[in-house]
Amino acid sequence: MGGNSPCASCKLLRRRCTKDCIFAPFFPSDEPHKFAMVHKVFGASNVSKMLQELPLHQRADAVSSLVYEANARMRDPVYGCVGAISYLQNQVSQLQMQLAVAQAEILCIQMQQEPALPEPQMDADDKSFVVHNELSSMAQFMNHPSTSNVPQEALKREYPWT
Ligand SMILES: [Zn+2]
Repeated sequence: MGGNSPCASCKLLRRRCTKDCIFAPFFPSDEPHKFAMVHKVFGASNVSKMLQELPLHQRADAVSSLVYEANARMRDPVYGCVGAISYLQNQVSQLQMQLAVAQAEILCIQMQQEPALPEPQMDADDKSFVVHNELSSMAQFMNHPSTSNVPQEALKREYPWT
């Protein structure tokens, strides 16, 4: 055994762990399950090839992503980590929709509470008047999207494929 105990990979593969073993830095003998999973999903020789193609400083990241992917594939044999990604993407878009609805509700409540100003105030309130106007046109757009006053010509100029 050459004095040192073999890394998790060499132990599982029942081979001598040399001092330039490509797995040794990433698969220590006290975490045998990590290599066992990666070996089961990807195969030891594929993992070895993948690591050899990478510069030294990127190998640790590659190993942790391989471990993550193997883990996901074991838990979900059909979708693997794609299952986790699409679940999270779904959650993100649901939350974005909830956020947009909440923001629209806030705008509507603000519009109901503030009556439209008849005249722009000439003193320090210039900015709030502009913001107020933007809010009211946004609220209009949300309440009556079909009668929005966005000119169709402008849309065509911005999106020539429509
Ligand atoms: Zn080894």
